[in-house]
Amino acid sequence: MRPLKHSVLALVVAIIGSSAFAPPTLAAANDPQPNRIRIEYVAPKSPENQEIYQIMKERRALEKMQEIYGAFKLPNELLLRTVECDGVANAWYQSGRVSLCYELLNQIWKLMPKETTAEGITPTDAVAGHFFFVFSHEMGHAMFDMLGVPVFGGSEDAADNFATYIILQFGKDDARRLLAAAAYSYKNYLMNPKVTVPVSAFSDMHSPPPTRFYNMICLAYGADSNLFGDFVTKGYLPEMRAKDCRREYGEVHYAFNTLILPHVDKAIAQKVLHKDWLPEAARPTPR
Ligand SMILES: [Zn+2]
Repeated sequence: MRPLKHSVLALVVAIIGSSAFAPPTLAAANDPQPNRIRIEYVAPKSPENQEIYQIMKERRALEKMQEIYGAFKLPNELLLRTVECDGVANAWYQSGRVSLCYELLNQIWKLMPKETTAEGITPTDAVAGHFFFVFSHEMGHAMFDMLGVPVFGGSEDAADNFATYIILQFGKDDARRLLAAAAYSYKNYLMNPKVTVPVSAFSDMHSPPPTRFYNMICLAYGADSNLFGDFVTKGYLPEMRAKDCRREYGEVHYAFNTLILPHVDKAIAQKVLHKDWLPEAARPTPR
């Protein structure tokens, strides 16, 4: 009996002891915490990506995203990086890492209007809104994965809704400018009133670009029909869709409040949302 008792005791000590004496940092690593985002500007090799690499660093684009999304309490570290992608303009989330290709950032930079548009979108806002929407879409995928959020429906539409919802939580000035600029990024897809595409185009995981545009501006109008009322009066959002947008926004608001808000540090989020993120709006040049 004695040898058996000793061996059982040794086993118990081995099992309990091993966790009791584990370094405390290992246990803490899975406690959800805010400010768990790390950033990296991976230096590109090709000459055509050097300028955008410098612009991103000078404008502290990733630092801003790190601060804005620092309010989310994550169980593990999340890496945000800009990276060269062998000529492919892409962005994706995978296994705790959001990657944005310099090739995609270059496209966003080149789509920038030369001067303030007829809709009142400045070149700076156009880039900021497009970048923030693309980035936040990937953050949507990251949050669904890292926070274990179930997605009832297409995850690409859900990531779009997440990004739009985040934009709409900022102060009215930033929300209006970011949202209008993000919507403006679809301009090229909306120029022709009629389009012809192969049926297979509708098989993509992402909704067709015009649908993504209408979903975005519908949520905005549903969130604040005064701030975004001109989307309807100017004819961007058809009235048939507009009348249901308040309910559509309400559904996303309910999903966010139920599934994601419990993972947000409220004090940090309030500071982030009350800060002015865009440069002061330039006054229109007198003619
Ligand atoms: Zn996506």
